Amino acid sequence: MSSPVWHPFTQHGLSEPIPLVESAEGAALFTADGRRIIDAISSWWVTTHGHRHPAIMQAIADQSERLDQIIFAGWTHEPAERLARELLKIMPGELRYVFYSDSGSTSVEVALKMALGYWLNRGEPRHRIIVLEGSYHGDTIGGMSVGARGVFNRPYAPLLFDVDVIPFPFEGREQATLDALEKLCRDSSPAALIVEPLILGAGGMRIYSAATLRELRRLCANLGVLFIADEVMTGWGRTGTLLACEQAAIVPDLLCLSKGLTGGALPLAVTLATAAIYDAHYSLNRRRQFFHSSSYTANPIACAAALANLQVWHDEPVAERILSLQQRQELQTGRLNKARNVRQIGTITACELGEAKSSYLSARSPGLLAHFRSKDLLVRPLGNTIYVMPPYCINDADLDAIYDGIEEALEWF
Ligand SMILES: *Cc1c(COP(=O)(O)O)cnc(C)c1O
Repeated sequence: MSSPVWHPFTQHGLSEPIPLVESAEGAALFTADGRRIIDAISSWWVTTHGHRHPAIMQAIADQSERLDQIIFAGWTHEPAERLARELLKIMPGELRYVFYSDSGSTSVEVALKMALGYWLNRGEPRHRIIVLEGSYHGDTIGGMSVGARGVFNRPYAPLLFDVDVIPFPFEGREQATLDALEKLCRDSSPAALIVEPLILGAGGMRIYSAATLRELRRLCANLGVLFIADEVMTGWGRTGTLLACEQAAIVPDLLCLSKGLTGGALPLAVTLATAAIYDAHYSLNRRRQFFHSSSYTANPIACAAALANLQVWHDEPVAERILSLQQRQELQTGRLNKARNVRQIGTITACELGEAKSSYLSARSPGLLAHFRSKDLLVRPLGNTIYVMPPYCINDADLDAIYDGIEEALEWF
């Protein structure tokens, strides 16, 4: 019998098999038909320590004994209060306030609205947003508007708001990016620049230098434009450090975090803001309050999961695991001599198969997906870009199996 479920990013007309997953543990998924699948992409970049980390599962169980859900406008609860304080302890000191939401996309919407509110409340309305070419910031209308135009959002293009795009800082051509940013900042009084620091995720795992990131931040600071770091994917150790921004020694005005915030167990997001942005909304005038909420803002059980995630970072050798994964992946990528543009940052590796240029609807991708499925690997290429982004707990045998599968793909496709 066919299912009534309509899946995301899935063309049901192709009738590709949709495996039924019954359970998960560590880096493995177990399907109803008895297969053990290696999760090479951390279930779409969310699972950091591994599936069903015992401490996070326990925290969820414990919190469910006390408080499930409560309106967050004008009310509060201990998990949200504690999580905000604990988060600020490990985040750069300039970030002073924590606004909760429930997905990466909404954390971006919130950051954009805060940036616009900041300028309006200062009596200096600004509406232009500058974006980096090829970026991805989520699937809501605002997130799509600041993301790259393309196959993901073509049907909705007429509804997306206009942004100013600066070129991706390819190695050797960084100055063009910086010059474009400087010109826009001087000519058009933009509200903010939004970037994915160090690596564009859905845009094809394209990496750029920390020095360039640092320059982008410096230009914004000098020219009075807010700097939004979307660390929804890069946060929580993915690029080798807790935040990618650390590698450029920069602090954004607004920081978006989600995916790994609960270790990947439950949906939760935060937008962190500086005092200047909070203060611009702080007033006796209710018109200046920040008008945004979703029903499940700061869900207590999700906050408890995030607190447990922070405890795991505190109690367990997470940094060592990340470094080990980085080194083991470095060795594995040595096998990919048939691939193009083999690259790595922290726990992420990527390469192109066939044509050097990546395209999401590459003719190769359905065959590739089927290949990885047949090898019991959860690998989901972005067009002809194959990438690996496993949970930090993955063992050598599973990592070997992933790269065996990729080597075969390079052989066959
Ligand atoms: C995944 C992602 C988002 C969107 O997050 P969702 O939780 O899927 O809404 C936004 N920005 C970046 C950089 C992402 O990788």
